[in-house]
Amino acid sequence: MNGAPIQVENDASREDVPPLRLTVLGASGSIGQSTLDIVARNPERFRVEALTANTSADALAEAAIRVGARHAVVADESALDALRSALGGSGITAAAGATAVAEAAARPVDMLVAAIVGAAGLPPTLEAVRRGTTIALANKECLVCAGDLFMAAARRSGATILPVDSEHNAVFQVLESANFDQIEMLTLTASGGPFRRLSLAEMRDVTPEAALKHPNWSMGARISIDSATMMNKGFEIIEAHHLFPLPPEQLDVLVHPESVVHGMVRYKDGSVLAQMGAPDMRTPISHCLAWPRRMATVAPRLDLAALGSLTFEAPDPERFPALRLARAAMANGAGATAALNAADEVLVAAFLDRKIGFLGIAQTIERVLDRMTQAGDLAPPTSLDDVMAVDAAARRHARTLVVEAG
Ligand code: NDP
Ligand code: MG
Repeated sequence: MNGAPIQVENDASREDVPPLRLTVLGASGSIGQSTLDIVARNPERFRVEALTANTSADALAEAAIRVGARHAVVADESALDALRSALGGSGITAAAGATAVAEAAARPVDMLVAAIVGAAGLPPTLEAVRRGTTIALANKECLVCAGDLFMAAARRSGATILPVDSEHNAVFQVLESANFDQIEMLTLTASGGPFRRLSLAEMRDVTPEAALKHPNWSMGARISIDSATMMNKGFEIIEAHHLFPLPPEQLDVLVHPESVVHGMVRYKDGSVLAQMGAPDMRTPISHCLAWPRRMATVAPRLDLAALGSLTFEAPDPERFPALRLARAAMANGAGATAALNAADEVLVAAFLDRKIGFLGIAQTIERVLDRMTQAGDLAPPTSLDDVMAVDAAARRHARTLVVEAG
């Protein structure tokens, strides 16, 4: 993070600024598409170097042609033929495989938007960090799985990490300076997800379709389910701890169903500074793309008079145990948070496949972490290989428990 004063300038002042060279990892996803929407509306401001996806060859090719990218990569090698034929005649080069994604991330650019979902985003994003590239970070798993390594690599290379996640972007906007000793409490808001009002008994039988229907945000499947369990907010506490050097007891969660206030900082004099905006990721994404300036967007404007009132409530730890699990993992250390993410990836997929029930997600994650703690498998990782080994072990435990449950 960076404590430089935020300047607000008229967009006209951009005219003599050279275009920003940009790579987008996860270009076919929700954040990737929102990013490319901003790029397509402001073609003079951006030069797109590389775009990546996993399997969505057609969506990737369409996006690459639309924004004039130079290079397109699918992680899944079996999607390369489809990508090549969809790019036919465009002059855009194509490649496939995890190594090719990391190579795309290593191409020199001014900014890389890290919007792959899951731990799969860590190796390529870390590659860009090590080269000192400014990162617009949506892929919070980089910090949940390897926050210490990731931030240490950024310090070594001088890479600036700009938070895309709306709550962290909000906090970044209201930080007065890097003077963290002036801060009393940092608050991340949470919508509470689609099951905010359900009892535990009612949550037992919810379907994937109901869990995917987020009340305010339109997002990828995994983060939508994580919002329903509130594990997403647990991950965001861990993310905040790495972005802003504050101890866990100064990181708070407040349920705010309207998703208008995204984050707040309470200073030691009692002042609370909050950032507000309509729930549209194009606002925080554009804040990163234009930083330290601002750029115009077509994101909906907040109409507080139409809203009339904003409501807030404390999170319920009984119905949303994921918050407790995330705090426990953070206290346990970096091995535990990497395992937390990996187990969650497997169990969210198992829920979406109807192999386990909704409450089984958090219950099984707890069992994975218990097993790994007892086995002494959660030592803090000191390298990317260590992180991937913890990740793989947690996935194995989680898959075994899913099979046992079935
Ligand atoms: P999506 O599921 O919509 O998109 C994920 C992207 O990652 C797709 O481009 C997908 O490609 C790609 N991808 C998936 N698996 C792999 C893999 N193994 N290797 C390479 N690429 C892969 O996710 P979101 O856009 O919703 O979320 C992206 C990240 O941003 C997550 O970390 C999420 O937590 C974070 N975030 C998202 C927010 C949102 O509003 N959506 C808000 C705040 C944070 P393909 O299409 O081919 O599968
Ligand atoms: Mg968020």
